[in-house]
Amino acid sequence: MRKNFLPFSRPSITEEDILAVGEVLRSGWITTGPNTAAFERDFCEYVGCPHGVALASATAGMHLLLKALGIGPGDEVITPSITWVSTVNLIVLAGATPVFADIDRDTLMVTPETVAPCFSPRTKAVIPVHFAGASADITALREQAHQHGVPLVEDAAHALGTHHRGRHVGADGTSIFSFHPIKNITTGEGGMFCTDDPEMAERISRLKFHGLGVDAYDRKTQGRSPQAQVLEPGYKYNMTDIVAVLGLRQIHRVNQFNRKRGQLATRYREWLAEIDEILPLSIPEDTTQHAWHLFIVRLDTDRAGMSRDEFMAELKDRNIGTGLHFRAVHLQKYYRESMGIKRGTLPHTEWNSDRICSLPLFPDMTSKDVASVVEAIKEILK
Ligand SMILES: *Cc1c(COP(=O)(O)O)cnc(C)c1O
Repeated sequence: MRKNFLPFSRPSITEEDILAVGEVLRSGWITTGPNTAAFERDFCEYVGCPHGVALASATAGMHLLLKALGIGPGDEVITPSITWVSTVNLIVLAGATPVFADIDRDTLMVTPETVAPCFSPRTKAVIPVHFAGASADITALREQAHQHGVPLVEDAAHALGTHHRGRHVGADGTSIFSFHPIKNITTGEGGMFCTDDPEMAERISRLKFHGLGVDAYDRKTQGRSPQAQVLEPGYKYNMTDIVAVLGLRQIHRVNQFNRKRGQLATRYREWLAEIDEILPLSIPEDTTQHAWHLFIVRLDTDRAGMSRDEFMAELKDRNIGTGLHFRAVHLQKYYRESMGIKRGTLPHTEWNSDRICSLPLFPDMTSKDVASVVEAIKEILK
């Protein structure tokens, strides 16, 4: 058994990263400024999208998006139920109704077939999630949304480094990335709103900072422009330079991080293949580059004779951390009680919600760590 605890995720922060944060603190400009601008520029170059707005979180980006699209009471937004709760919370907080599309059983992602029955005259947007570092079938989903005359926005929180049919996701259309500590790069907390629509980019820039006509940082005056006026009421969701410098440094290492994630995932796939109770996700054919954000498996609970929660507890007893991405939103207390969606409505979502488990995966892990996880799983299922 492992002597030390293996967390399911850990950010890669170097001494140089720490020094760079220190330099910002000493520079005299610590909120949105030159480092945020440089991060936005290099991030956009990496993804291949024309406009990027750095924010306090991806959740903030989702809030601004719903505001910019004018989504409110009487409107519906189509999204999966297996997603991070923030999207659904914000739809509800905007006074709109989430409409859950079921998922493909083995990729955990919505498909044009599962989304099709969700459209109604009230549909205002479709928000699919690229899951675990693989890509949703964004080409077909976007075409479908446009046929219904509604925008599609990609939740790309898991998808930094993910390519779909040879292009980075988020290169076209509108997408939101996250830099929460478990994501492929981190700024502690942070997000990036990416879009190829210049008007949308301007609107988001404005809404993220009080609705002012110019940014907090004016490059000419090297400070806040005193001429800025409120063009519409906005929020306070800007990223600080203290954390932007981390993003700026990490975006240049993301390929290196993801290569390591991919190598570890290959080990998992090889070594878990012989364990019948463990079912990894399948990789969509048109994911031409996988970001390996998470290594998710499903426990065959019938064969294993134990629940997923018991399995996670057994791993913890053996010094191995796990994650759960995600418990279906419609099965959580508030949504169960307020929406009354019965079990059986979203069969593939529910089947996975009861069986998924994320195994440790982060760039500073070793093959030996992977071997220790596989050994522990074998012992638990023996
Ligand atoms: C992490 C995550 C988010 C939210 O990101 P934050 O930056 O924490 O707000 C949204 N969607 C998915 C799928 C995520 O995994």
